[in-house]
Amino acid sequence: MNYYSTNRQSPIVGFKEASIKGQAPDKGLYFPETLPQLDKEFIRGIENYSNEEIAFRVITPYVGKEIPEEKLFRIVSETVNFPIPLVPISESISSLELFHGPTLAFKDIGARFMSRCLGYFLKDNSKKVTVLVATSGDTGGAVANGFYEVEGVEVVILYPSGKVSPVQEKQLTTLGKNIHALEVEGTFDDCQQLVKAAFMDAELNRQLFLTSANSINVARWLPQQFYYFFAYKQWLRNSPSDDKGPVISVPSGNFGNICAGILAMQTGLPVKHFIAACNANDIVSEYLETQNLQPRQAVPTLSNAMDVGNPSNFVRILEIFNHRFPELKNILSSATITDTETIATISEVHQQYNYLLDPHGAVGYLALQRYLAGQPGQKGIVLETAHPVKFPEAVENCTGQPVEIPTAVQSIMKKEKKSIIIKTDFGQFKDYLLK
Ligand SMILES: *Cc1c(COP(=O)(O)O)cnc(C)c1O
Repeated sequence: MNYYSTNRQSPIVGFKEASIKGQAPDKGLYFPETLPQLDKEFIRGIENYSNEEIAFRVITPYVGKEIPEEKLFRIVSETVNFPIPLVPISESISSLELFHGPTLAFKDIGARFMSRCLGYFLKDNSKKVTVLVATSGDTGGAVANGFYEVEGVEVVILYPSGKVSPVQEKQLTTLGKNIHALEVEGTFDDCQQLVKAAFMDAELNRQLFLTSANSINVARWLPQQFYYFFAYKQWLRNSPSDDKGPVISVPSGNFGNICAGILAMQTGLPVKHFIAACNANDIVSEYLETQNLQPRQAVPTLSNAMDVGNPSNFVRILEIFNHRFPELKNILSSATITDTETIATISEVHQQYNYLLDPHGAVGYLALQRYLAGQPGQKGIVLETAHPVKFPEAVENCTGQPVEIPTAVQSIMKKEKKSIIIKTDFGQFKDYLLK
């Protein structure tokens, strides 16, 4: 498979180069030249395949021969080696729980796949690769965990001091070895500025091989299709007669996740409709009404992993539809959910169904409930993107009960935090990277 840049000013590249580069030189996003079509027999018989086999089938056309089959199968097996259950909440809504991976958020899938691909591509590199990531919480943990002990790769994570949740902070700061946490005395935007400045710095780029692990990388984006297929497999089990597929609601920030779902649909996965569930940062909702995409400064909300004012992956959704607005509108709707509504939804769903949503899942749930109210007889799936324990304050305030800490994180909560505190000063960051 070849990839072109959405800005169309960069050379075509293969999967390897696209995943090492991350972003195209013209600052566009890499996009596959053709959309592979999945075998209809495979989709009809999807219940007969293991998750590993499904993932392997889905990703193979995108990787081509750049990773040998056996190795690629091992990579996808390690990527999806935890449960991704579809759990019924109400009569019409089920939750696809994407939070059973090592860092309790859906980003584990993309990060695990990407880190293993890069590890493979860079194994014979003489120069070590330094992955720089700025995080507001979830990305850093997933990337740190994914790259942990990957040979030839050092990971430097910048996070805003005091602005990530306790579980998130432990996930960033307790691994050690090739994972380094910098605690920045500033905001997430400051962290991002420092990373951007590093990529622009000539001296740093001479001395180090810098790359990023953010969500625009094709090796993080494409594997996110996997769990849409896993969802359908389980959906058929519960609704065998409904092979038109579910309505799917995706809590969205940078739109990488939902864009992967739409890609899966365009290549043959049955889905009735997609809902982009947004918090107050709702420029896509505005776009769907006005056809005008107007980036804004992000405002902070309870579902903070979705606080994005300029969703970088949206251009890929436009690309999937060849920028044809009516076709896009047929498949995609959006909803804007306030913090007040998010809190009320967590409480109600907990009381009514004894199911605990996190703030991101709650945004998705309410958006789906509203949509289904106008579509009698239809049923849907909400992607529950994070475990509620990652956002304990919001959740405990709603339910009045402490969130149970899953065993997977009990042990890291006891580990010692190791971070280096830095100011928002680029000189200090650069000195750190050079030594
Ligand atoms: C990153 C994240 C999102 C947003 O996903 P996008 O792919 O950026 O739209 C939603 N929920 C959680 C918990 C996240 O960590």
